[in-house]
Amino acid sequence: MASSDIERRVTLICPVCGGDQFESDEHDDAVPVTCAACGRKFSRDELTQANHERIEAEIHKMGEQALEDAAKDLRKLGFK
Ligand SMILES: [Zn+2]
Repeated sequence: MASSDIERRVTLICPVCGGDQFESDEHDDAVPVTCAACGRKFSRDELTQANHERIEAEIHKMGEQALEDAAKDLRKLGFK
């Protein structure tokens, strides 16, 4: 599973305005994502941290085997 699959499974939400539409470069994780609603830029790290609880909840739903895969993917994202 590619790390971007996790991000697609979870609806990431802008911590500033609550928008869920972002512009990003799927091929380069170093490029900041931009909220389409308020225009605020976030690093992937910032957005992942801001959505920590949503990601945890989604992983819980995915079940134990998927959880192991997801945990590996999240570690690749720098999620500790
Ligand atoms: Zn926003």
